[in-house]
Amino acid sequence: MRRIVIIGFGPVAARLIEELEEPLAQSRVHVCVIGSEPEGAYNRILLANLVTGHSTPQDLDLACDETNFPEGVTFLTGTTLSDISLDGQYLHTTDDRLISFDDLIFATGARAVLPRVPGLDVLDTDPCHLDSIPLPGVHPLRDMSDARRLREVVETGQDVLVLGGGILGIELALNLAEHGVQVSLIHRGQDLMPRQLDPDASRMLAHVLRQAGIQVIPGGINGVRSEGGRFTGVVLDDGTVREAGALIPAIGAQPRTEWAKKVRLPTHRGILVDHQLRVHGTSNIYAIGDCAEVLCSNPVCPECMAIDYQDSAPSGLIGPGWQQAQALADILDGTHNRVPSQVSQLITMKSQAVSLTAAGSVHARAFEQPRVDVATWEDPRTGRYLKVVSRDRNILGFVALGAPEAGAELAMLFERSGAAPGDRSVLLAADTPSGADTAPELTPESIICRCAGVALAPIQQAVSAGATTVAEVSKCSRAGTGCGGCKDKLESVVSQAMAA
Ligand SMILES: Cc1cc2nc3c(=O)[nH]c(=O)nc-3n(C[C@H](O)[C@H](O)[C@H](O)COP(=O)(O)OP(=O)(O)OC[C@H]3O[C@@H](n4cnc5c(N)ncnc54)[C@H](O)[C@@H]3O)c2cc1C
Repeated sequence: MRRIVIIGFGPVAARLIEELEEPLAQSRVHVCVIGSEPEGAYNRILLANLVTGHSTPQDLDLACDETNFPEGVTFLTGTTLSDISLDGQYLHTTDDRLISFDDLIFATGARAVLPRVPGLDVLDTDPCHLDSIPLPGVHPLRDMSDARRLREVVETGQDVLVLGGGILGIELALNLAEHGVQVSLIHRGQDLMPRQLDPDASRMLAHVLRQAGIQVIPGGINGVRSEGGRFTGVVLDDGTVREAGALIPAIGAQPRTEWAKKVRLPTHRGILVDHQLRVHGTSNIYAIGDCAEVLCSNPVCPECMAIDYQDSAPSGLIGPGWQQAQALADILDGTHNRVPSQVSQLITMKSQAVSLTAAGSVHARAFEQPRVDVATWEDPRTGRYLKVVSRDRNILGFVALGAPEAGAELAMLFERSGAAPGDRSVLLAADTPSGADTAPELTPESIICRCAGVALAPIQQAVSAGATTVAEVSKCSRAGTGCGGCKDKLESVVSQAMAA
């Protein structure tokens, strides 16, 4: 029986265990998973719902536990490593266990980056043991304990500051504002989400956020104030002090590579793995999820040669992590599988109030480059902005703000490398009441749930096999198990399949 040890118990490790169901049932493998959080794996994507009181911890639970895996899996939670020996193939945990392995898997995820400003002691101690809160009242939203602490602040009705104008910070600010929290968003630089949006789209987004009751403060912070050991406010770049009950840094996530570095495994931003998820230069060590950077060492791999090393990083998204977990289960069971190095950088905002979908390169301007067409439409009154950049009708990138139907159609065309409509203005009709008929026809390959990578066909198959509710379809197809953004689409697809 092969002994597989997984370090880290997040949603990607949980998916790997589920995918190993067959070899576990046949006693071909034994899995030991070690998680530093006291809870078992949960759906991290939905943490903001805990802060607003919209969900309970049970709603996020991924049910990867002794009840569902009574045999073959040892779950060790609330503990971490004190030592690893790759040559000896064993590790020690802080609660004094000695665990031997045949295959070692890093699924250590990422941690939130904290601002390094006066008043906030981000300790420069050994990162293997760094997870303390720098100051009560300053909490990134990365784990369940952060969510609980932020919930306490929200319950007291205090103002909240979100630091960072990336998608995570904006989603969080919107979520809090929707639940009546006074929230301000502080962001450095000219534009919100500068990697995914062009400057005009950024400006429109800032306008939409203000309309949603969020104060958008351009500039950074250069200090943090506290009283009695608790956060009271920030010092903005211009020297003014802004008081609040909590500061939520949302300035990025850093892959947790500290243990890999400690044992001299190759790392760049993440732990470097090849297309079989094997850490470079090893035969039995793997990495998956937010800590893994797929960039192979084969100098003639066309896929990896196309990547600029400086831009290479783990995707930070659940979809590729779950795809890796599925592939690794096959690989550990002796079946061939491979994962791509680059994933589509399509983003969709999780918010009831604001619809935003964007992908690819969107910074081109009309008439600047030969053969590149840029079509743009903006309406500040309704907060709508649509931009499509294409070459010879192939969509290179797009932004759809306040235009959910156009966003869905463009996302589908972008992912299928489909052609942009000859007359781009037809996209506008999709978001008008009379334009409902223009919604694109779904094909069996149309992706319904991006997080779990589930297309229409498996959903229809689940209904044909007897699933009668969205929950049952989710259970057997996994559609809708990630961010929940596909819920409406899934409901309509399930009811259509039932009717058929
Ligand atoms: C608020 C929020 C919203 C998000 N929204 C989206 C979204 O809409 N769409 C999307 O695709 N992605 C989203 N993400 C990102 C998504 O959650 C991650 O891609 C996903 O959680 C990665 O899973 P993972 O298992 O690789 O790592 P993680 O979820 O980070 O889990 C890793 C686990 O390993 C543990 N660990 C680390 N080191 C050790 C150690 N040495 N010993 C023991 N345990 C250890 C950690 O404590 C953690 O529990 C969001 C993330 C957050 C925080």
